[in-house]
Amino acid sequence: PPPETERPGLMGRLLGRETAPAEPRRELDDAMLEELEDMLIAADMGTETALRVTANIAEGRMGRRIGATELKQALADEITRIMAPVAQPLPLYPRKPQVVLVVGVNGSGKTTTIGKLASQLRAAGKTVVIAACDTFRAAAVEQLQVWGDRAGVPVLVAPQGSDPASLAYDAMVRAESDGADLLLIDTAGRLQNRADLMEELAKIVRVIRKKDETAPHNTLLVLDATTGQNALSQVEAFRRMADVSGLVMTKLDGTARGGVLVALADRYGLPIHAIGVGEQIDDLDAFEPDEFARALVG
Ligand code: GDP
Repeated sequence: PPPETERPGLMGRLLGRETAPAEPRRELDDAMLEELEDMLIAADMGTETALRVTANIAEGRMGRRIGATELKQALADEITRIMAPVAQPLPLYPRKPQVVLVVGVNGSGKTTTIGKLASQLRAAGKTVVIAACDTFRAAAVEQLQVWGDRAGVPVLVAPQGSDPASLAYDAMVRAESDGADLLLIDTAGRLQNRADLMEELAKIVRVIRKKDETAPHNTLLVLDATTGQNALSQVEAFRRMADVSGLVMTKLDGTARGGVLVALADRYGLPIHAIGVGEQIDDLDAFEPDEFARALVG
């Protein structure tokens, strides 16, 4: 028999349902659905996605009294279903060097993510070279060198203001001659100067293709969870400038829950390779849809 506390109470037996624990229940009607929809939109999930998720939750539940536990579970299930297909670690290829171009607006966490990624790859027995192709930002180059030291990975730099593409070419030569498994290329993120940035990224791609016409093998877009809905326009912008193949979302350790990832997954289906959960070298985690959904639903 079930433990005493789980048995229906007297009233429960009388009414034919369990009374304890008494969770407030509410009839699932149009008003409640609308509130739910607004909540999801406020959580950055985007109108389209919010509408569909709500519709799925309504299915088979309209007019029924529903408690928070069931609602949370249903929501988490819906979100997990959307996110599961995009949870994919960075694919590794036998190609040497596998060239990973890392793009994103300044401050999104590109430099940090490259450092963390280099460290993880090293720990997995891969040899890695980093190229600091954001040659205009001296601070970014310095930061990358610090990360390279921490990760035990060489960082190729060029004098400030020199041509990023020519550094990328030198890095290809070096990575090849070193027999490196991967080359991680940091790039500029001046989104306020799109035409320039597009030209710069295009030139880097052109030049590395002179060494390997299949490169870059991955183009990682780094997004900052704290920018909320802005992530959508950043994806739009960078997809126009580069052949974005996957995402990393940083700063998910703070208050931001990254609801925009649901909208992104729903709209673009781009793989989410990792999430940043802190400023330390080990703070890069695999994206776990289930965990993410539960944290988002709260
Ligand atoms: P970049 O300009 O895109 O290269 O960005 P940086 O890598 O320099 O990161 C900008 C700031 O965000 C730095 O202060 C980082 O320490 C911080 N940062 C990066 N990733 C994370 C993260 O996952 N969590 C937290 N809390 N901070 C992060």
